[in-house]
Amino acid sequence: MKIIDGKALSARLRSEIAEGAAALKAEKGVTPGLAVILVGENPASVSYVTAKEKACLAAGMHSVLIRLPADAGEAKILDEVRRLNDDPAIHGVLVQLPLPQGVDAGKVAAAISPEKDVDGFNAVNVGNMVLGGRCLLPCTPHGILKLIEFAGIDCRGKHAVVLGRSNIVGTPTAILLSRKSVNATVTLCHSGTADLAKFTRTADIVVAATGKPGTLTGDMLKPGAVVIDVGVNRVEDASSARGYRLVGDADFESCAKVASAITPVPGGVGPMTITMLLWNTLESARRGCVSSADRV
Ligand code: NDP
Repeated sequence: MKIIDGKALSARLRSEIAEGAAALKAEKGVTPGLAVILVGENPASVSYVTAKEKACLAAGMHSVLIRLPADAGEAKILDEVRRLNDDPAIHGVLVQLPLPQGVDAGKVAAAISPEKDVDGFNAVNVGNMVLGGRCLLPCTPHGILKLIEFAGIDCRGKHAVVLGRSNIVGTPTAILLSRKSVNATVTLCHSGTADLAKFTRTADIVVAATGKPGTLTGDMLKPGAVVIDVGVNRVEDASSARGYRLVGDADFESCAKVASAITPVPGGVGPMTITMLLWNTLESARRGCVSSADRV
């Protein structure tokens, strides 16, 4: 049984991204810049944003954090987004989710310029992803594809079962896995799926993205299946100094006994999400250096 090491792949890719950023600076005088808007003080969001900022600086990129109070309101957030859309030093704009109640996250995502939408949530990027056009891919699904490739897993002709249909993880992952270049046959399951195990037992690859620990257990797997566990869940753990530990959506112990390869939590998909964010920021900065006549 192989552990698919997201930290190792991330380290490799981040060093390639840092080289790319340095080359862009040397050749075009452009430093890729990422701006993150954080609304409120949600501890998990603060920790994600801090990690993004740190990764950005480590890759030699310019990082801007805009902190707004929880009651800033939609109009203020939209103003900041528009200002960053027009800032030539910024190539990626990201609004950390979740947003406070009353703020329309869809409207905020739509306000981010598609060229700077490094999360890949904007309808223009989603549409181009579905149509196979040029776009910035959503970070977690893109990271999942990279992990599968890194583990040497050939998806052609394989049955991939994706658990969860969110717009940021499950649905785009299912779309990317079914692209001709990947060529898996995909089943997309959700909370309305009757008898989840009926589908997972026929899967060569299972991507678990439900946000519910224990959704996938070893008895639901075909021997030799590959498990990509996207879930990040805090469960109480008195033995940990923090009082909790992180677990995925798959039960690692039982799945590891049946699977041929599995991503750990933490250290699997998690680091890849930030890595692909840096990837998109570099990509966006490179595109910004192409004259408009050369753009597709
Ligand atoms: P959402 O809550 O937005 O979506 C969860 C999806 O899972 C929904 O489609 C839901 O179905 C489905 N679902 C819930 N329970 C079940 C069940 N028992 N069986 C089958 N399907 C079920 O979550 P996200 O997609 O945003 O995130 C999923 C997980 O991934 C979370 O743990 C999150 O923390 C983690 N995550 C990790 C990232 C990383 O970088 N590692 C990045 C993003 C997310 P329905 O549509 O019917 O409600």
